[in-house]
Amino acid sequence: MSTRIGTPWTQGATRVALLGSGEIGKEVAIALTRLGVEVTAVDRYDGAPAQQVAHNSLTVDMSDPQALTAAIRSTGAQVVVPEIEALATEALVALEEAGEVRVVPTARAVRLTMDREGIRRLAAEELGLPTSPYVFASSLAELEEGVRQVGLPCVVKPVMSSSGHGQSVVRDTSQVEDAWLRAAQDGRVDRGRVIVEGFVDFDTEITLLTVRSRDPLTGRTVTSFCRPIGHRQVDGDYVESWQPQELPATALARAQEVAAQVTEALGGWGLFGVELFVVGEEVLFSEVSPRPHDTGMVTLASQRLSEFELHARALLGLPVDTTLRSPAASAVVRSPIEAGSGVCFSGIEQALAEPESDLRLFGKPVAHPGRRMGVAVASGPDVPTARERAQRAADSIVVASEQPGTDPA
Ligand code: AMP
Repeated sequence: MSTRIGTPWTQGATRVALLGSGEIGKEVAIALTRLGVEVTAVDRYDGAPAQQVAHNSLTVDMSDPQALTAAIRSTGAQVVVPEIEALATEALVALEEAGEVRVVPTARAVRLTMDREGIRRLAAEELGLPTSPYVFASSLAELEEGVRQVGLPCVVKPVMSSSGHGQSVVRDTSQVEDAWLRAAQDGRVDRGRVIVEGFVDFDTEITLLTVRSRDPLTGRTVTSFCRPIGHRQVDGDYVESWQPQELPATALARAQEVAAQVTEALGGWGLFGVELFVVGEEVLFSEVSPRPHDTGMVTLASQRLSEFELHARALLGLPVDTTLRSPAASAVVRSPIEAGSGVCFSGIEQALAEPESDLRLFGKPVAHPGRRMGVAVASGPDVPTARERAQRAADSIVVASEQPGTDPA
């Protein structure tokens, strides 16, 4: 079996429906279009980052199964690539079962990882992988009981959430009610369900980018690992990442074993972001994204192929190469302001004057305080130098309300 790629906008095009058009989707769309794939970028609002670079775009409510099914069918896509979690996954399962499309990596993987309960139960209860102690709760009373079982301190998160939304650390029983209210307010869909996890006092937290791809020689699916990515989170949201994060040899072997098991259970081809806590030589599974990971933006500067290019290649059945080219780091650019119709970035020349630096400005049409609007990446002779460069580059960027005018200089 060999991969064939047609010509975009012709009958023989290889078509991908990209579900979710944020900053990750934008880079995936660019990687796919470079390989000649026709991409339709779908999002809930017009002008989302990936829609600005894809061949076609569609705006639909992707939590509505009928609307999502109709949208995917209208693209003529053979392959569906989800970029976000909040999707009507039952529609993806049905389309895949009917043989209409291939969902990346699989519809089941997308369904299981869309909420914390599916993936945690798979990892801890079916695969027996080590995790922090946890309990699920659907009411304040159940949460109180859950906190008693798990013990203090603990972390409370809505089952449907990411980037720290609705997440609290509970250090004292007086904080339980606030944690419940916060989770109910900020969770995505299923407002009444949370996970309570024991707080892990980790030495390092890493993302282990793991790729399942087709071996061109044997046709079998093989698993490859990128070097571990270290990252720092503030209030549950990523602020900087770096690669490689060195680990004790035993911890690295365990991390790869956990990642291999969980990604094999999810199946399919593609890149996965496996999030792990490292405590001494022990490794605890935290979560997994069946798609490129935000902390993996560092690979734009560190690897021969970025995580987006690896995902594109793997999902097309093409060989991958996870070689690290240089130590590198990424630092997030956030908006300090509310801006309803476009923002304007300045300080770009200072940012790019940093040695070995580069910048991604996502093109999000609307800004809120704290919203991720771009990322600076930089390589260097070692990780500390790369982190300093990336941080200085990110700090140089000033985000303001949009000014009229088009000449950038
Ligand atoms: P998550 O959305 O589950 O990836 O959590 C976001 C971040 O919160 C993680 O990357 C950690 O920095 C922190 N965090 C989440 N769960 C725990 C935990 N059980 N113990 C300690 N820190 C945690």
